[in-house]
Amino acid sequence: MPPCSTKCGKNAILKRPKTGDVLCKECFFEAFENEIHFTITRAKLFKPNSKVAIAASGGKDSTVLAYVLKLLNQKYDYKLDLTLLSIDEGITGYRDDSLETVKQNRDDYEMPLKIMSYKDLYGWTMDEIVAEIGRKNNCTFCGVFRRQALDRGAVLLKVDYLATGHNADDIAETVLMNILRGDLARLSRCSAIITDSGDGIPRVKPLKYTYEKEIVMYAYFRKLVYFSTECVFAPNAYRGHARVLLKDLEKIDPSVIMNIIQSGESLKINESANMPTLRKCNRCGFEQRIAQARDWQVK
Ligand code: SF4
Repeated sequence: MPPCSTKCGKNAILKRPKTGDVLCKECFFEAFENEIHFTITRAKLFKPNSKVAIAASGGKDSTVLAYVLKLLNQKYDYKLDLTLLSIDEGITGYRDDSLETVKQNRDDYEMPLKIMSYKDLYGWTMDEIVAEIGRKNNCTFCGVFRRQALDRGAVLLKVDYLATGHNADDIAETVLMNILRGDLARLSRCSAIITDSGDGIPRVKPLKYTYEKEIVMYAYFRKLVYFSTECVFAPNAYRGHARVLLKDLEKIDPSVIMNIIQSGESLKINESANMPTLRKCNRCGFEQRIAQARDWQVK
């Protein structure tokens, strides 16, 4: 490998997928962490002395998020009180195993952990839902349930922010997916770095500009413990089609990820477009978009 491009005197061991820079391990760590710190400070994601729940799945994104937030919190004295919040969807062979990794994160990073389960909240596990409806639209159900479970967990923990591990690839995929579906409501807000959960607790995305490949590299070189098995119901996710398209485009030009995010940020939705409205559920009181009813139909 050639010398590190920062001229630190060491040999490079990797080429950054995002910038093409060839770097040694230490300079990569510094560049990676500095970019996240820059994202946090530029967008003013957190106020000092706040309590932050990190949505933790045991996967690479939330594991890296927890590690880096703890590190930056100490290095730059953000004065944040960090805690882990996990959702147990009740998916045998997936979530039961990944929760063990979250417990490892809890011990490694010395953060409290709260687990909310679909079974306790809704009376159903995802395994039971799939047994009832079959292998169709599973992520539509699961996504709505998880979103609400995280909101409920955040309220229960009395946090000021909910930080999620959405990375740059996730955001670009979501922009593409919403264009393909013509989902104007989601398209108008999916690239925002801070979103309103509806109960006054902002959701923030510190990894919004961090490439997935670099998250994998960072976790590898930092020797972080994370769970990498895919959900057994994931192959049916519509998102998978957007992911394949994005990966193909990334092979041609890695900057396509940032370009899509920037396009999403610059989009303005015509105000006369037919947008869904929020309506409260009669039973649980949580708000749900009327247009989502379309997604709930089992085809
Ligand atoms: Fe739920 Fe779909 Fe994610 Fe599996 S892949 S955990 S079903 S949203």
